[in-house]
Amino acid sequence: MSTKQFALSDEQATIQLGTVLAGLCSQQTTIYLHGDLGAGKTTFSRGFVRALGHQGNVKSPTYTLVEPYQLDQWQVYHFDLYRLADPEELEFMGIRDYFTPDAICLVEWPEKGAGLLPEADLDITIRYNGEQRIAQVAANNSYGITLLDQLELC
Ligand code: ADP
Ligand code: MG
Repeated sequence: MSTKQFALSDEQATIQLGTVLAGLCSQQTTIYLHGDLGAGKTTFSRGFVRALGHQGNVKSPTYTLVEPYQLDQWQVYHFDLYRLADPEELEFMGIRDYFTPDAICLVEWPEKGAGLLPEADLDITIRYNGEQRIAQVAANNSYGITLLDQLELC
């Protein structure tokens, strides 16, 4: 498995990771976001969807489970499955219909939907490091490795 680690010294660095990764996506992409509450999963997602042209707020869709962003080039779906009580809810919401060829899916708390979500191209785990954060990015397939190879923060 290929992985890279990034030291994220402040919120801006977490946003930058999202921004840079958004610019690298060249096909349907699924990214799982792991980490405790407050680690920075939504902050990452904010950088990501803003980089693709979204100008408004980005809040985690804690109650609605998914927030769609219809952007110039991509349809981005930002999931937060924290409050998912039963994975079957994903069946009711027609989860498969979100993973379409023009879609990028960012999934917070993917563990809650285990077994019903498509595999991720990348797994990103954000950990606390004192007041700062460390992100580990792991690639799960050849497309993920292509993304990872190009992923550098300055
Ligand atoms: P999550 O979605 O993982 O629950 P949020 O992104 O909502 O977390 O919140 C993360 C919090 O941590 C925010 O207050 C944000 O300002 C802060 N934060 C994000 N990245 C960093 C970082 N690299 N260093 C320090 N604080 C950060
Ligand atoms: Mg969140």
